[in-house]
Amino acid sequence: MQDARLSTMIHAVAKAAMATRFVHASTSIDGLAKEDKSPVTIADWASQAVVSLELARSMFSALPLVGEEEAETLRAPESAELRARVVEAVTHAIGRVTEAEVLAAIDRGQGVPNALFFTLDPVDGTKGFLRRQQYAISLALIESGEVVAGVVGCPNLPTTNGNYDVADHAGTLAWATRGGGAFACACGESEIVRAERIHVASWTSGAPVRACESVESGHSKQDLSAELLAGLGSLGTPARLDSQSKYVVVARGGADAYLRLPTKKDYREKIWDHAAGALVATEAGARVCDVDGKPLDFGQGRELAANRGVFAGHPDAVEQLVSAYRLRGL
Ligand code: AMP
Ligand code: MG
Repeated sequence: MQDARLSTMIHAVAKAAMATRFVHASTSIDGLAKEDKSPVTIADWASQAVVSLELARSMFSALPLVGEEEAETLRAPESAELRARVVEAVTHAIGRVTEAEVLAAIDRGQGVPNALFFTLDPVDGTKGFLRRQQYAISLALIESGEVVAGVVGCPNLPTTNGNYDVADHAGTLAWATRGGGAFACACGESEIVRAERIHVASWTSGAPVRACESVESGHSKQDLSAELLAGLGSLGTPARLDSQSKYVVVARGGADAYLRLPTKKDYREKIWDHAAGALVATEAGARVCDVDGKPLDFGQGRELAANRGVFAGHPDAVEQLVSAYRLRGL
């Protein structure tokens, strides 16, 4: 927390969580149940605008921001209603801003990866957001292809491990700096001073692997993870939750391993889907690698072009998972 960059990032994410919570609170259950995508779109844009404005107002304003969203459709005349709701959510989080400032801030997120840049997933786990379950605001700083700081805000993640299908509005805010350890507290700006160091759980070979994975079967091959885990002597279904909250759960000892097994040969993971979470888990003592056991390479542009899939967890459990995957010859 001594690091000014980290402090700016933590506050930016905590404020973005205020914006996404505001969108949830001001949207009827009905609106979400109808699979109307607009609430998540509003939350996405509002979150990106908040983080972008906070970074722009800091001493790190010159660094590129590589975000998932852009404002082109939001600028269209027929998007006036959406624009108003985005501005309202941003204002709720950081005070009065104009529509022009919000649009410009979102577009500042179209930066290009270079030697030192931020990457942002304003609402990771879209489906979880729509279900009012788990989602994350994920911001990382990447220097020379390595993640040096990462913040994951999980507005609905219980501070203790347990049932992830229900939203705990205390939420969890986790962060790490390279070499500086991983920390977590409840998800709110006033909670930051109460953060505590987090660690992966101890695990010994032969013990059951408490695993977690995506809710969406299209994002991770769930039948294969069940087989790999059974091979290690672990029966039962992994905990399923959306977003980078899985890295946070591993980092604080709520699961021994996070499995993300490729479902499509050509899919490449996006850097903003992993950068912050991977650092939090690593700094908590986890090994994070791809299904071939290779470290994640964040120096390949917007995608993890040199990797496929992810394992994150206790180093010994991950070692066994990598071996089990290799034996499949996939
Ligand atoms: P999760 O909530 O862990 O299931 O991950 C959500 C993320 O999965 C989204 O932000 C997408 O970028 C990403 N995603 C989309 N398609 C795929 C895919 N085929 N394999 C893995 N991840 C994907
Ligand atoms: Mg995402």
